[in-house]
Amino acid sequence: MDTAIRVNVPEMFGSLVFNDIVMEKRLPKETYESLKKSVEEGSTLDKEIAYVVASAMKDWAIEKGATHFTHWFQPMTGITAEKHDSFITPVSNGQVIMDFSGKELIKGEPDASSFPSGGLRATFEARGYTAWDPTSHAFIKENTLCIPSVFCSYSGQILDKKTPLLRSINAVNKHAMRIVNLFGNKSGAKRVVSITGPEQEYFLIDRDLYKQREDLIVCGRTLFGSKPPKGQEMEDHYFGSIKPRVKAFMKDLDLELWRLGILAKTEHNEVAPSQHELAPIYSDTNTATDHNQLTMETMKKVAQNHGLACLLHEKPFSGVNGSGKHNNWSITTDTGINLFEPGESPRENSQFLLFLSAVISAVDKHQDLLRVAVNGAGNDHRLGANEAPPAIVSMFLGDELDDIITSIENDDVYVQKDKQTMKHGVKVIPRFARDTTDRNRTSPFAFTGNKFEFRMLGSTVSIACPNTILNTILADELASFADVLENAENFDDQLHKLIKNTIKEHKKIIFNGNNYSEEWISEAKERGLLNLRTTPEALPFYISQKNIDLFARHGIYTAEELNSRYEILMDDYCKTIQIEALTMLDMAKRDITPAVCKYANDLSCTVANKKSVVPDLECCLEINLIKKISCLTDKLYKSCTNLENAVTNIDKDIDLKDLGLYYKDVVLSSCQELRTTVDELETIMAKEYWPYPSYTKLLYSI
Ligand code: ADP
Ligand code: MG
Repeated sequence: MDTAIRVNVPEMFGSLVFNDIVMEKRLPKETYESLKKSVEEGSTLDKEIAYVVASAMKDWAIEKGATHFTHWFQPMTGITAEKHDSFITPVSNGQVIMDFSGKELIKGEPDASSFPSGGLRATFEARGYTAWDPTSHAFIKENTLCIPSVFCSYSGQILDKKTPLLRSINAVNKHAMRIVNLFGNKSGAKRVVSITGPEQEYFLIDRDLYKQREDLIVCGRTLFGSKPPKGQEMEDHYFGSIKPRVKAFMKDLDLELWRLGILAKTEHNEVAPSQHELAPIYSDTNTATDHNQLTMETMKKVAQNHGLACLLHEKPFSGVNGSGKHNNWSITTDTGINLFEPGESPRENSQFLLFLSAVISAVDKHQDLLRVAVNGAGNDHRLGANEAPPAIVSMFLGDELDDIITSIENDDVYVQKDKQTMKHGVKVIPRFARDTTDRNRTSPFAFTGNKFEFRMLGSTVSIACPNTILNTILADELASFADVLENAENFDDQLHKLIKNTIKEHKKIIFNGNNYSEEWISEAKERGLLNLRTTPEALPFYISQKNIDLFARHGIYTAEELNSRYEILMDDYCKTIQIEALTMLDMAKRDITPAVCKYANDLSCTVANKKSVVPDLECCLEINLIKKISCLTDKLYKSCTNLENAVTNIDKDIDLKDLGLYYKDVVLSSCQELRTTVDELETIMAKEYWPYPSYTKLLYSI
C-alpha cells in the first residue's frame, strides 16, 4: 500500500494565496458557500457577496504585508499586466486608512489605449475594463494583492487571453456533459473540467555574460554566435546531475512557486547544455494558465537573485535545441472521472472511444488551428528542425489504441494484449508491469495514457490560446456527436456507427512513426495533411470562414475579435523580425566592424614590424588571415547594406498577409546571410578582439 506523509505544503512555506482554505476560515459560511457555488456553476456572483469577499481579502492581504492591489490580467502582449493602486484612502477627519471596496474588487479601469487591440479600438477610445475572475485565486506578489482578471474594451470586445479561454472551458463543459449524460452519468457529475499540466523548458546562463550581449538583452536570443566545439552531441546533459548553482536556483524557485500555490513537481536537465525543465502538478486549465505565466515571471526573478539569466526564448542558441512547452491536456468530471482514461479494457469502454473519436476528428479537421495556436517568430525556428515536432500536425495513439481503432474500423474482434512484466535481469529489483505502448517523443500530439500531450508549443507562449483552441474544437465535435446521439432511435447502433465512421474519415491524422524523418514529410503530403512551415503561412488560416463559424458557434470570438487577433499576431511576427534585424545591424556596424578592422590593422602592423626587422620573412599566417578577414569584411559590409535596404524599403500599402511573407522571405533571409558572415568571422578572430562572449562561455560557465 502507498503511504504518504501529509503536510500542508503551501502553509508550511507561508502561502501567499487567497485559496479555499483561507476563504473557508475567513468568510462567513453563507458567503463562502455562495462564492463556491457561483464558481462551480459559472453563475454571476452577487454584488453583496463580492463586497464581503473584498473586505476579507483586504484584511488577509494587509496581514501578509501587502500595501497595494492590482487587477492582474493577460493582454494580447503574451505577458501579464498590472497597474498598482495602494490601499490608502483619506477619510474625513484627515486620517488615512487602508481600504479596498467591493467595487474595486469587481472592476478596474486601466487605460486600454496602449495595449494591442488589432484595430478593435481607436487610440482615443482609451477606456478598458478589467473584471475579477473568481475562478482563479488571488495572490500576493511583491507586497501587492493580485486579482486575476479579464480585460475588455468599453464596448465589451475582448482584449485579453483569459476571456476566450474561460468561454472555451464553458463550451467543453456544456457539450461533454451532454455526452456524459447520454452514457447515464453514473457518478452524478455536474461539470466537466478542462485540465492542463504544462512542462516548461528554459535556459540558465551567467548574468554577467548575458549583460554583455545586446542580442540577448533586446531579443532574448543570440543573433550571432558560431557553433561551439561541443554542443549536445555527447547527449550527456539530459537528466544529468544538476550543478550546485542550478540546484540552488531550483530550490528557491520551488519555494517561491509553492508560496504562490503553484505545485512545481519535476525538475531536470534538458537536452541542450544549460537547458532545464520544470513541470507542475496539473490543475484546471484556467489556473494552470495563470500559474504558467507566474512561473515564467518567477523564473526570471529568481534567476536574477542568483546572478543568472533565465532565457525563455524558443531558440536562444543556434545549433543546439531550443525550448518548448508540452501542454498535457485532459477533461475530467467534477466527480474525478478522467474522460480520456481508457480503463482496463478500452475496447469495451465505449464512452472513452467516443471521446477519443471526437479528439481524432477535431485534430484532423482543425490541423490549421493547432498550427496557428503555436505561432510566433521564435517557435518557427524549432518546428521542423529535428528537435521539435514538425509543423505538420498529426496524432500518436500508440500500438494498443491503434490496434483497437483498426479493429473497430474493420469490425474485427480485438484481442487485448496483457501487460507484460518487465524483464530487466536483475533479481533484487522489483518487477514492474510494462506499459502496453512505448512513448513517441517526436509526435506533435501524443496520447500518453490518459491525456493528450500537445508538444508544438514554444517556451514563451501563453498556454491560453492553445487551450482555448483545444477546448473549442473538442466542444464542437462533442456537440455534433450529442446532436446525433440524443436523437438516436437505437443508441448502441448509432454510437457504433458514429465511432466507426469518424475513425474511417479521420484516421489519416494518426501517425505512430518518426515525425522527424524526411519520409514523413512526403507521406503527410500524400495524405493531404497541411504543412504550414512558418507563422505568416499559418496565420491567414485563423480567419478562414470555417474558423470564424466555429468560434462564433461556441461564443468564443466574434468575427471582429478573431480578425483583431489575426492582426495582432501577424503584427507581432513582423515587429519581432524587424527588431532582430535592427539589433543585428547595430551589433554588426558598431561592435563587430570596429573589432574586425582593429584586428586586421594590428595584424598588418605586425607584418610591417616583422618585415622591418627581418625583411625576407614571408609572414604567411598573418597575410592570409588579413586577406580572409578583409574578404569577409567586404561581405559583412554588403550583407549589412542588403539588410538595411530590406528593413527600410517596405511598401507602405502592402497588406498585412504580404507583409508577414515579406519579413519571412526577404528580411529573415537577409538576417541569415549577415549571420553566416559574422559567424565565420568569429571563428578566425582572436578571442580578445571579439566583442561578445562565445557560445562556449555562455553555455558552459555555470
Ligand atoms: P513527461 O514524461 O512528458 O516529461 P512529466 O511528468 O514531466 O512528463 O509531465 C507530465 C505533466 O502532465 C505534469 O505536469 C502532470 O501533472 C501532467 N498530467 C498528468 N496527468 C494529467 C492529466 N490527466 N491531465 C493533464 N495533465 C496531466
Ligand atoms: Mg512531456
